[in-house]
Amino acid sequence: MSDRIYNFSAGPAMLPGQVIRKSMSALWDLDGTGIGIMEHSHRGAAFQGVIDRAEALARELCGIPDSYSVLFLQGGASTQFFMVPMNLLGEGQCGDYVNTGAWSQKAMVEAKKLGKVHEAGSSEPDKFTYIPGPDQISWSEKPAYAHITSNNTIFGTEWHRDPEVPAGVPLVCDASSDIFSRPLDIKRYAMVYAGAQKNLGPAGVTLVIMRNDLAERAPKTLPTLLQYRTHIDKKSMFNTPPAFAIYVVGEVLAWLKEAGGLAAMAERNREKAALVYDYIDQSEMFSATARKDSRSLMNVCFRATSEDLEKKLIAQAGEAGLAGLKGHRSVGGMRASLYNAMPIEGCQALVNFLADFEKANR
Ligand SMILES: *Cc1c(COP(=O)(O)O)cnc(C)c1O
Repeated sequence: MSDRIYNFSAGPAMLPGQVIRKSMSALWDLDGTGIGIMEHSHRGAAFQGVIDRAEALARELCGIPDSYSVLFLQGGASTQFFMVPMNLLGEGQCGDYVNTGAWSQKAMVEAKKLGKVHEAGSSEPDKFTYIPGPDQISWSEKPAYAHITSNNTIFGTEWHRDPEVPAGVPLVCDASSDIFSRPLDIKRYAMVYAGAQKNLGPAGVTLVIMRNDLAERAPKTLPTLLQYRTHIDKKSMFNTPPAFAIYVVGEVLAWLKEAGGLAAMAERNREKAALVYDYIDQSEMFSATARKDSRSLMNVCFRATSEDLEKKLIAQAGEAGLAGLKGHRSVGGMRASLYNAMPIEGCQALVNFLADFEKANR
């Protein structure tokens, strides 16, 4: 790894070194077949093995029962923003959304094009610095579904509890930036979706875990490709799937299993984030932007005492081999993304750098 640097980018993001190396060799020759992963027919046995293994690993890691489908779709999480209401929002029904940041808002914009939307809770008045508590959320009467964003990549907040929804209301979760960073009690959710490029693999594939019965709500007049039932029936192969991206996701899941699974990963992620937040909390130059009880373990968003210092820090960090620390353009400041693949050594290197920077610029 000597020629690679620590990449704190929010997505596409760092992947485990061993996954990259294995993928490099699979590009040339998949499992001794003499054909690379990008060149295999998706209808052949070799690729069938790849997608079956990725699904089986996801099911095993997360305890996903047979009543749920595991789908590998395209179009990113952004496509789920409209596929969810297209398939789940019946005539005259309402979709409930908890608004915790830019991605929640984008999901709501799409849903409003297709039906009624109720904002069940929002942290917007406080600049999305926290996750609303149960007493700050009010669901509408019998919504078609309730939607949350489990980790807010731009604002650095994360749900640290499963939200309570009224009995029978399907809970839908955009988990693009924290999926498989910790155990997930899938039975509490009707559907979880995630673009792969933050915590699962390369851009180009979106993981959708959904309860099978949910797919039956969709009108059959929808374009075939936009109905979940199509992808369930065809096992993610109605049309050509993003084969290479699915291959890499499978390798990431195998790496996760080897590392001890989701509980072990959660423990590591807690340790990693604590290292960085603890430094920031005692620092006189830096402060974290999210409220303590809502802090994301995946995206640590923080500010320095001046914008000039922030600019200088980001430039010097780049020179020191710490990339991708610039905060999202809409909020400024710094953001250190500590997804599963970021080793604790990277977090320690970041803390050392911040401490040196603070000393030199006091
Ligand atoms: C990045 C991100 C998205 C958008 O994902 P695309 O795959 O680019 O469409 C949606 N939601 C969250 C929480 C994200 O972090």
